[in-house]
Formats: sequence, C-alpha cells, structure tokens
Amino acid sequence: LASRDFHPADTVINIKGVEIGGEQLVVMGGPCAVETPEQIDEIARLVKAAGGQVLRGGAFKPRTGPYSFQGVGVEGLIMMAEAGKKHGLLTITEVMTPEYVDVCAQYADILQVGTRNMQNFDLLRKLGTIQTPVLLKRGFSSTYDEFLNAAEYILAGGNPNVMLCERGIRTFETYTRNTLDLSAIPVLKQLSHLPVISDPSHGTGRRELVVPMTKASVAAGADGLIIEMHTDPDNSMTGDGVQSLFPEQFANLLVDLEKLAPLL
Ligand code: PEP
Ligand code: MN
Repeated sequence: LASRDFHPADTVINIKGVEIGGEQLVVMGGPCAVETPEQIDEIARLVKAAGGQVLRGGAFKPRTGPYSFQGVGVEGLIMMAEAGKKHGLLTITEVMTPEYVDVCAQYADILQVGTRNMQNFDLLRKLGTIQTPVLLKRGFSSTYDEFLNAAEYILAGGNPNVMLCERGIRTFETYTRNTLDLSAIPVLKQLSHLPVISDPSHGTGRRELVVPMTKASVAAGADGLIIEMHTDPDNSMTGDGVQSLFPEQFANLLVDLEKLAPLL
C-alpha cells in the first residue's frame, strides 16, 4: 500500500485545511519537549509569526537513559493543544506506546512515531486502527525497505494518513549526531506516494547545520520540515538545545524558504 506502483498519485494529507504532500511546503517547529504552559505558548506564537503551520513538542520523551527527563506527560498534551488552538497551529507530538495512542490523538493533530519505535509493531498496528495522521520517523539503522514496511503496518490497518520522516541515520561519523540521509528524500518519493518530511535537527544534532540541511532537504524534494526551536535552548529540559534554532534563526530560515518553495 505504501508503494507508488500501487498508488501512482502523490498522497496529500489534508488536516484542517493544511495540505501535507501537496504544493505547499509545510513547516513544523517547536521545542524538543513541552516544558511549561508559558514556554509552549511563547514558542507557538513565534512559530506562527514566522509562517509555520504546525507546532511540535514532546510530552512523552524517549530518552536514552532512565534517569533523564522523561517529559511532562498528559499535562504537556493539554498545554500544547491550548497553545496550538490559541495561535492557529496544528500540533504534532510523539506517542511511544499503544496504550497512549487514544489520549495523544485526543489532543494532537498528528502523532509522531520516534526513530526508536519505528519497528514497534504493536504501536504501528494500533495507529492503523485510527485515522489520525502519523509522522513515522525512520529508524536510525533502518533500510528504506524496512522503513516502508513499517509504514505498511499502519496503512494495512486502515489508516491511509502516513508521512515518512528522514531524521538521520547512525554512521561512523561522530561530529554530527546522526547523518541526515538526503538521498532518502528522493528515493522515498520515487518508491512511495506518501509525503516525505525531513528533520534536520536530529539529522545533524548541531544548530549551525540545521539551516543548510533544511535548504538541502527542500532542494531534494521534501514536502515538509520538522525543526526544533527554543526560546532558551541552553536551558532546555532535554539535551536537544544544542540543535534547537533560536527564534530569529527560525524566522529567517522561513523567509529564505519562501524563495525556494511556497509556504502557506
Ligand atoms: C524528537 O523529535 O524529539 C525525537 C525524539 O526524535 P527522534 O525519534 O527522531 O530521535
Ligand atoms: Mn528532540
């Protein structure tokens, strides 16, 4: 079902009037993690002012170690839903377990499956039973075939609203956190009809690389971007401040993107 042979035309996912996979480039911006109502409200305001369409933020965080900040949970979903509504943005948040799919879907417009969960087949099956759009991140050691098969689980369950996200893979290089596999963008567009989103934040792990790799992703044919932005990245509650853009950088980047591809 994910294959272009089966479905030659591009899939366009329309969420409350925002089309993902269509003519316009979609920008999802926001913090790695929802922290406080004030934090997410202010960042939502900045994302909207810059021209973004979707507010990102994790309420449940998949941390490498069990003693790291794990996210604020359901409270965070509520804070983000309020900020999205107030500022006229769609919202996207990560769901890590099948049990939390319904509550996350109640509050967010798009559900994110993180890189570590790309082959959490119980989670994928559960996501196939609802119609909420899913942004499926590529596993950091997954092939394109494995990635498309993971998407297939959701599609086969009856949810056609899947977008594929390249977020960097693990290579021998340690200078960057991951290696953003730019080739994945045209390859996935050729093999599949699903929208392709790029995540240059996790794909590089370094703020100064986010802007050039965003532009490269657009040039490679990405339908959208998911970019971390924080008002106080040095004091963010996850380690992802080092890859988060400052609000001015985010706004300037979107101005530059207007020249490369039409935004809303
Ligand atoms: C995130 O988006 O903050 C995140 C944890 O992403 P990934 O699953 O790609 O590491
Ligand atoms: Mn993050």
